[in-house]
Amino acid sequence: MSLTKNQVASVAYTLKNGDDEIIDQATKDSPMTFLHGVGGMIPGFEKALEGKNVGDSFNIVIEAADAYGERNDALTQDVPREMFGDVPDEQLVAGAQFQAQTDAGIEVITIVSVDGDTVKIDANHPLAGMTLHFDVELLDIRDATEEEIAHGHVHA
Ligand SMILES: [Zn+2]
Repeated sequence: MSLTKNQVASVAYTLKNGDDEIIDQATKDSPMTFLHGVGGMIPGFEKALEGKNVGDSFNIVIEAADAYGERNDALTQDVPREMFGDVPDEQLVAGAQFQAQTDAGIEVITIVSVDGDTVKIDANHPLAGMTLHFDVELLDIRDATEEEIAHGHVHA
């Protein structure tokens, strides 16, 4: 069976950045499952998986535009320290990530720097602007249930 829209795929993968550093992975014992072809994954990933068969192993290189998009400098801004309320100073350091409620929903923001009462934050997706390198093994394919298709996601 080769993967097509409205099927559920289970994959093991390792995601690396251009410096060969591992950013994320899912193992065979604990694979990632997703409903294929409905935009739940980044476009380059779905494109590469389309038509693949169970047992296939392959590498994918996905440019930022087909992954999490280019970085947008307008999403970097200074905000008052008090926005972080009770967060202790030792957690409010460059590189720390927080979830923030925004107009677009829950987003991850990254601390760029802290200068007294001013915190510079970056609301770009942490992987924005990055070319992503995946090693993928397609472990299993099954047809999605009607309910999963209606919901647009996999049910356990
Ligand atoms: Zn559901």
